[in-house]
Amino acid sequence: MRTESGPPGATAPTDSTAEGPRRAARPFVVQVAGLRKVAGTTRGEVRQGVIDGLGVVGVVVSEGSPVVADLELSSYPGGISAVGTFSAPWVGECRRCGGPVSGTVTAAVRERYAPDGSGDEDAYPLNGGELDLEPLARDAVLLELPLAPLCSEDCLGLCPQCGTNWNESTCGCAPAGDPRWSALDSLRDL
Ligand SMILES: [Zn+2]
Ligand SMILES: [Zn+2]
Repeated sequence: MRTESGPPGATAPTDSTAEGPRRAARPFVVQVAGLRKVAGTTRGEVRQGVIDGLGVVGVVVSEGSPVVADLELSSYPGGISAVGTFSAPWVGECRRCGGPVSGTVTAAVRERYAPDGSGDEDAYPLNGGELDLEPLARDAVLLELPLAPLCSEDCLGLCPQCGTNWNESTCGCAPAGDPRWSALDSLRDL
C-alpha cells in the first residue's frame, strides 16, 4: 500500500531550469492524490484555460478564449473517473456564404484516468497524484465542433457565377443550367 507522503523531490519549487511557472502554464493539471486515498470519493472541479490550435477546417475555438471544464472527479479502485462538460466559444465560416458564424460548443464527457500498466487502454494517463484534463478537453471539444456551420438555416449562399452574396442582394446572372448538360455545352463549342 502506497503512503501519501509523496516521493521526495516530486515538487521542485526553485528549479530555474524547469519549465517555468508550472501552475499557471498548466491550468488543467489536477492534483488527485487526496481523492485516491479512498475509492468512491467525489470532488467537483472547475478549471479553465486557453488551449491553442483547437479547431477543425473552417471552425476554431475563439482565439484567447478559455475552454471551461466543469467536472466531477471520482476515485474508483483502478483510477479516477471524470464526468461533466467542457465548453468553449467558437467562430467559423458559413459553409454556403462564407460569412462569419459563431456559437458555443459544449462537450459532455464520461472518461477514466488510470495509471500506466493498469491494462485500461481507453483511460487517459494518471501520473502518480496528478492528471491532466487538457488532452481530454482537446479530444472532447474537437469532436463537438460543428463541421459545416451555417450563418442561418435558410442562408441563400453565393451566386456561383458572379459571387454575389444572395443574402444581401440579387444579381442578374441567368439561372445556372442543369450541371449534367454543361458537359454537352462544352462539347458543342468544339
Ligand atoms: Zn451563410
Ligand atoms: Zn450572379
